[in-house]
Amino acid sequence: MRYWLSVFAASLVSFLFSGALYVFFHPPRDFEARSADISDTMSSSVSPVGRLGAVGVSARVNATPLSKFFENKEHSLLFVGDIMLSRNVGAEMELRNDYAYPFRKIADVLRSADLTFGNLEGPISDVGKDKHNLYSFRADPRSVEGLKISGFDVVSLANNHTMDWGEEAMEQTIELLRKEHILSVGAGKNAEEAGRPQIFDAGDSFRAGFLAYTTVAPPGAGALSNRGGVSETSLENMKKAVRELRDEVDVLVVSFHWGEEYEKRSGSEQQRIAYGLVDAGADIIVGHHPHVSQEIEKYKNGWIVYSLGNFVFDQYFSRQTMEGLMVKAIVREGRIIDIQSIFTPLTETYQPYVEN
Ligand SMILES: [Zn+2]
Repeated sequence: MRYWLSVFAASLVSFLFSGALYVFFHPPRDFEARSADISDTMSSSVSPVGRLGAVGVSARVNATPLSKFFENKEHSLLFVGDIMLSRNVGAEMELRNDYAYPFRKIADVLRSADLTFGNLEGPISDVGKDKHNLYSFRADPRSVEGLKISGFDVVSLANNHTMDWGEEAMEQTIELLRKEHILSVGAGKNAEEAGRPQIFDAGDSFRAGFLAYTTVAPPGAGALSNRGGVSETSLENMKKAVRELRDEVDVLVVSFHWGEEYEKRSGSEQQRIAYGLVDAGADIIVGHHPHVSQEIEKYKNGWIVYSLGNFVFDQYFSRQTMEGLMVKAIVREGRIIDIQSIFTPLTETYQPYVEN
């Protein structure tokens, strides 16, 4: 049973902020019609309490207390795609001497969610050695400020740019983020560390766990037992990690850097992996890397966001690359009950914003 949500239709989207919960209104017609179907399905499958019950019962894995979650019946997890703070974006910050500049128009929106996630495309560092990948990114250490003012809780480093300046730069990135209370997932000093989940504990409300993987890392960038890098492994290993995390959390998120660049629909390899991970117990797969957004699919009890596209990037050659998809998962009683999405266009100076 599949429900395809078209997220490519017209962009008449208005945005309301009401109390702690902001609501996305009037998505494209197609989206609206089909999301009604999904809500019906979901309401019948939502149990009275989350997988862990009203109180998180398991404490086997260290969890990070979530500080900014709101005391509501409904909670929100917000996902954005590729964040690239180097190249022209870096030049813009330097020119203006404002290292949070890319986030100025959208920080409030990002911060208003209980938990905020993005894919950090490239190290934030002033050390390391340029590995001369096709494009090598490295952002000024001061640019962590933008992630901080936006209230990011966790970023994925499992992508094709984290290792652009080698292990030293990757490790400094993790450290700089940690100092600002932003956790990372999907990279580390070895495969064990790169594959380790991050778990957030919102008191009695919910526990959310994150895993992150990539299938597009350049040669030598994948973490091994004795080598730092990004999390890149077999589908069997990923499914095993999902099954292990399943009992620890209410909401299980897998971030995935994958797919074909500039393709507006998912490919069979993405689908095969996504179905496997949902079958293993993942609640939501959030994809990125194609630089354009792709469709959202409801598959069994899981949601698959194939590509969020660019969030902060400098690919000004097409509308699709200058417009990301921001997705909000609504969590009630420990389960995702709905998904809402909105496009976030970028200004000419690489600032994403939400249209009024
Ligand atoms: Zn990428």
